[in-house]
Formats: sequence, C-alpha cells, structure tokens
Amino acid sequence: MEARIERIWSPRVGEREVLTDDGEHEVGVSEAVEANAWLIGDDEEVIVVDPGEDAASVLEQVGDREILAVICTHGHASHVAAAIEVAERDEAQVALHRADRLLWRAVHDGDDPEIEMADGGLFDVADVQLEVIHTPGHTPGHVCFIDEDSRRLFSGDHILPRITPNISLNQFDAEGPLAQYLRSLAKVRDLETSEVMPAHEWRFRGLAERVDGIAAHHERRLEELLAAIVAHPDSTSWFLASQLTWSRSWDQYNGFLRVSAVTETAAHVVELVERGLVTSSGGDVPGYRVVG
Ligand SMILES: [Zn+2]
Ligand SMILES: [Zn+2]
Repeated sequence: MEARIERIWSPRVGEREVLTDDGEHEVGVSEAVEANAWLIGDDEEVIVVDPGEDAASVLEQVGDREILAVICTHGHASHVAAAIEVAERDEAQVALHRADRLLWRAVHDGDDPEIEMADGGLFDVADVQLEVIHTPGHTPGHVCFIDEDSRRLFSGDHILPRITPNISLNQFDAEGPLAQYLRSLAKVRDLETSEVMPAHEWRFRGLAERVDGIAAHHERRLEELLAAIVAHPDSTSWFLASQLTWSRSWDQYNGFLRVSAVTETAAHVVELVERGLVTSSGGDVPGYRVVG
C-alpha cells in the first residue's frame, strides 16, 4: 500500500519559543505561529513527526491505525508536549536526540524518550524509510528526517520557509551555536529533495535557495553587529542588542522578548569571536572589541 503524508495543523503553540523574522529582524513569541505535526504511513500504520501540544487532534487524525513511533525533530515544548500521550496509546516509543534531553526534561520531567537518535539512524513505516540527519544549531540535538524514496525533507525548525529560526546562546548549548547552525545548513543544502516539510508555516520547494537566504541573513546580522562593536568598544551583548535593528523600538522589547534578543545577539557575538574578528574581555559579563 502506498504511503502518504498528512499534516496536522495546530494553531496552539507554546509561548516559550521565539522566532526571528528574516526580513525585519523581528523577534516575536510564536503564539501567532502555528505548528505542524506530520503523519507518515498508510492505512495500517503511521509514524508521528513532532506531535505538538494537542494529543487529541493527533490521535483523531491517526484513527485506528497503529502508531509505530513518535519521532521529534527537537525538544522544544511546542513540538514535544503531546509526545508521551500520543505514544502511550499504542505503547509506541518516543525518539529524540540525546543532546536535547535537557530541553525535553523541562517539559516531561522523569519520563525520558526510549529511543536516542543519532545521525544516520533509520525508521521504517509502510514502504517508507526515514533517515536521521543531525542538524545542531536551533537546539543542540535538532535532527531532520529525509524520506529516502520520495526525497521529502522533514526539517523541523532547522529550515522554515519564511521565518529564520532563533539561534541563541543558552545554558544547553555548547560553544558557538551559530557556527553549528551554519554548518548544519551546509550539511543539508545540497541534498536531493523534492519538498521540505517544516515544523511551522508551509511545505515548500527550493531547499538550496532557502538555505542561502537564511545564511545571508546571518551574515548581514554579523556585519551589523561588527559595526556596532566598532562604534561601541567593550560593550556587553546586552548593550549591543540594543544597538541592532529590530522591527520595533528597543523600548518595546520587554521581558522574555528582550532576553531572547540578547541571547540571539550573544550567539552572533560568539561567532565573531570564533572567526577571530572580535575579542572577549572574559568574565561573567564579557565586553567585546574588534581585533587589531
Ligand atoms: Zn524550536
Ligand atoms: Zn518550533
């Protein structure tokens, strides 16, 4: 029986995730952004990709088919909150990359995923084989899945059609999340793909073009940041964030929005340091200046 792909659209998205608009550097909580869950399978069995927050809507769409596994592109709550409830119905296993375990535990304390995914891992459902591609950056354990036959890429939050995913320096990340992210973009850029199935917004074609657009966005942001460091030597990430262009005035960025803007700026500052263009004063609240 021929496999098919179904999209479950959920307008309810957790408040913790921040997405940056490519065109205007807009930072906004993703309440206004829907999330996609994907079902892959046939009339007998399915795999659920990124169940989202609402188990009932996923289970309704699955119907009486058997759930073989619930596989998660990354550990953000808006994509994994319903994972256990969906998997439990058929005693299926949940799969997540180990590097997103801390994010997962912030949502599901004490109930870890049974399957630890790694690059090159495979899942079978109906006549489909999905391969795991580790794409750290948006989160340390982010993965994409490629359907080896139809060449559809399930891209999670790694690549979205319009929004640039948030890349932040945070407590879970190793050094240099932006460097990791740019490497992960290059890793998938030239994959033969028929279509990209993201975790937000809509499915699209033209992977390489979109990858180039996102990479160019980050390069422009790095240039803007470098100019701000030249103008304000020994500044902190907190101050530098206030010097960048955002879609609203900096005064309107309060609370979580402001923290997100600062952690995103910090990820870009670290990238400038790793490229040898900027040095850090060190310490708990480092200041930065241009080399030379
Ligand atoms: Zn995410
Ligand atoms: Zn997301």
